Amino acid sequence: MVTVTTRNPADRLTEEQILLRDTVRQLAVERIAPRAAEIDRTSEFPEDIRQLLAQQDVLGLPFPVEFGGVGGDLLTVCLAIEEIAKACATSSLILIVQVLGSLPLTLAGTPEQQARFFPALASGRTLAAFGLTEPEAGSDVAAARTRAVRDGDGYVLNGTKRFITNGSVAGLITVFAVTDPEAPRHRRLSCFAVEVPTPGFRVERLEHKLGIRGSPTAELAFEDVRVPAANRIGAEGDGFSIAMATLDRSRPGVAAQAVGIAQGALDTAVAYARDRRQFNQRIGDFQMVAAMLADMDSQIEAARQLLYTACAEIEAGGPDIGRWSAMCKLVAGDTAMRVTTDAVQVLGGYGYIDEFPVERMMRDAKITQIYEGTQQVQRLVIARALLGRPAS
Ligand SMILES: Cc1cc2nc3c(=O)[nH]c(=O)nc-3n(C[C@H](O)[C@H](O)[C@H](O)COP(=O)(O)OP(=O)(O)OC[C@H]3O[C@@H](n4cnc5c(N)ncnc54)[C@H](O)[C@@H]3O)c2cc1C
Repeated sequence: MVTVTTRNPADRLTEEQILLRDTVRQLAVERIAPRAAEIDRTSEFPEDIRQLLAQQDVLGLPFPVEFGGVGGDLLTVCLAIEEIAKACATSSLILIVQVLGSLPLTLAGTPEQQARFFPALASGRTLAAFGLTEPEAGSDVAAARTRAVRDGDGYVLNGTKRFITNGSVAGLITVFAVTDPEAPRHRRLSCFAVEVPTPGFRVERLEHKLGIRGSPTAELAFEDVRVPAANRIGAEGDGFSIAMATLDRSRPGVAAQAVGIAQGALDTAVAYARDRRQFNQRIGDFQMVAAMLADMDSQIEAARQLLYTACAEIEAGGPDIGRWSAMCKLVAGDTAMRVTTDAVQVLGGYGYIDEFPVERMMRDAKITQIYEGTQQVQRLVIARALLGRPAS
C-alpha cells in the first residue's frame, strides 16, 4: 500500500525559526520600514540599522555560539533576511554581506582564525565584506589580476577590487588575489582576511546606483598592502574553490532578499487594490488586476518554497548544492523583478512616484538578478550540474 502524506510546507519551520521570523518581522515593521524611503533618498549607509541589527543579535545569527553568535542554520538566516528585505532591501544587505564576507572563514578558516575574527563579527562590532570582483573579472572570476606576493612572514597585495558591498564600512575584507600566475586557471588564486584600515588600502570611490542606494558599493585599491601569512584562508591556490563554495552557500541569502522584496511589493499592491476605486468599484475587483495579484502571490510562494528546500538541501550537504543554490537565486530574482514591476502597474501613476514604496522595490529588485553571479551564470551552473551527471 502506498502511503500519501500531505504536509503543510510551513511545518518545515521549527518553533524557534517561527519565533525568530516573527521577532525580526516586528523589528522590520516598527524600526526599519519607517527608515526605508529616507535611506533610499539620501543614499547613506544606515548606521542606525546596523546598530539595531547588532543589538538584537541579528548579525550574530550566522556565527557559532562558541564565538558569541546565535548558531542559526541557513534557513534561519534566510528567514531574517526575507523579513528585513520586505521592509528595506538595503538594510537586508547588512546581514547578507556579513554572511558572504565571513563564509570563507567559516568554510576554510582555521579554528585559530575563527576564534580571532568571529567574536567581533558576531557582535556586529566589525562588518565583513567580500572582495572578489575586479574591473576585468566579473563573471569570469578566475581572470582576477590582484596580486599577492609572498614576502617573509606575510604577503604584499597590489590591485583593484570593484563593486565591493560594504567595502567602505567593513573592518574585515576577504580578498581573493593571484599567488601563482603560472598555475592552471582555477589554482591561481588564494584568499586572505584583510583587516582594514591598513597602510596602502584606499576606498577609491562609491558607486551611484539604480537601487539598494544606502548600501555602499566601493572600489578598493590595494597598494603594497601587507597581510600576515596567518591571515591566508586555506592553502595557496585554494582561492577559486573557496570563492565558489562561498557563493554556493550565500546565493540563498540573495534569493531570500528577492522573496522579501517581492512580498513587500505584493502587500502594498493588495492594500492599494482594496482601497482604490475607479469606475465605481475597487480596482481589485477588475479581473485583470485580480489576476495580476493572484499570479504575483503564486510566483512568490513558489520562489519561497524553492528557497526553503534549497536551504534544507544545502544544510544536508549533498553533492548538488551548487544547483540548488543557483536555482533558488534564479527563480527568486526573476520573481522579484516581475512582481515588483507588476506592483507598479497595479498602482498606476501612484506606483511610479515615491509616495509609495513599489518604485523603490522595483529598482531594488534588479540587483538580485545581477550580483553573486548574474542570472545567466546561474543557468550555466544549473546546466553544468545537469549535463555533468551520468545518463539515467
Ligand atoms: C551593487 C553591486 C554590489 C556588488 N557586491 C559585490 C561584492 O560585495 N563583492 C564582489 O566581489 N562583487 C560584488 N558585485 C559584483 C557582481 O557580482 C558582478 O557585477 C557580477 O558578478 C557580474 O559581473 P560584471 O558586472 O563584471 O558583468 P560581466 O561579467 O561583464 O557580464 C556582462 C553580461 O554578460 C553576461 N555574461 C558574462 N559571462 C557570460 C557567460 N559565460 N555566459 C553567458 N552570459 C555571460 C552576464 O550575464 C551579463 O549579462 C556587486 C555588483 C553590484 C552591481
